[in-house]
Amino acid sequence: ATPMSVMVGVGKAAEAGVLIRNGEALQLASSIDVMVLDKTGTVTEGKPKVTDIVLINATDEHQVLQQVASLEAGSEHPLALAIVESANDRGIKVSKVQGFNAITGQGVEAELSGQRLSFGNLKLMQEKGVELGNAKEKAQQLAEQAKTPMYFAKDGKLMAIIAVADPIKTDSLSAIKRLQKLGIRLVMLTGDNQATAKAIAAQVGIEEFIAEVLPEDKAAKIASLQQSGAVVGMTGDGINDAPALAKADVGFAIGTGTDVAIESADITLMRGSLHGLADAVAVSKATLSNIK
Ligand code: ADP
Ligand code: MG
Repeated sequence: ATPMSVMVGVGKAAEAGVLIRNGEALQLASSIDVMVLDKTGTVTEGKPKVTDIVLINATDEHQVLQQVASLEAGSEHPLALAIVESANDRGIKVSKVQGFNAITGQGVEAELSGQRLSFGNLKLMQEKGVELGNAKEKAQQLAEQAKTPMYFAKDGKLMAIIAVADPIKTDSLSAIKRLQKLGIRLVMLTGDNQATAKAIAAQVGIEEFIAEVLPEDKAAKIASLQQSGAVVGMTGDGINDAPALAKADVGFAIGTGTDVAIESADITLMRGSLHGLADAVAVSKATLSNIK
């Protein structure tokens, strides 16, 4: 494309709230074969809320939430914010914990009044040797409802399950349909568990998803899609997504996401909507066909 037509394309995209950092990205966007979408904060709003507290060996819901919120007060993860907010809403005050430790892709642990508290996913419980029994099936049921279940253990004993739900952005489904009509293969990528990922993907009409991916492995998933020769786009919002955004042929950051994601991307979707992706691809295709 000529420099003039690229400038016009960049301007058109900007009108749709799509900021394109360089002309090369605009031209590459027209040939994207596969678009990888992060789940949390990209397909969904990224604002999870507590929906269920299931008592297993605990008897006091209030106490469970108090202890888990104290544990999560040291974490900046969206799941942690959901727990702390739920405790705040109920007027619960958090306590100071000792030896706080966040385990990437698994959860958090710390000591409170001499007791060892852990909160996180199945992997974390397996590593701590916590017996789950029937609770595993309960967690599975919650996950099939598109919720994210997390286990709470005290001194190695399972006390409760807390589930959160992260609403899907109201326009994700229609934007995904537009992308599919443009001939783009969509793959959703997430650190969340299989069953939750499957339920969310189904609700927005995405057939392929890769779940339980550790943050440090996201970029490797992009590389393996590129190996077949496909031009791969990646859309994400989090710190976790930055290496994958840089690795992709075209990286798209959600404008409401973290600065690191925006800096690692070629294109920023200022409106936070996935429609910006379809707009970017459409403008790119129009730019290239005009100058042939
Ligand atoms: P994503 O941002 O895609 O959800 P993460 O790697 O951040 O992926 O998290 C993967 C999983 O690890 C979460 O779904 C959750 O089960 C568990 N996890 C991570 N951080 C926390 C936390 N602070 N509290 C509880 N669970 C957590
Ligand atoms: Mg995210």
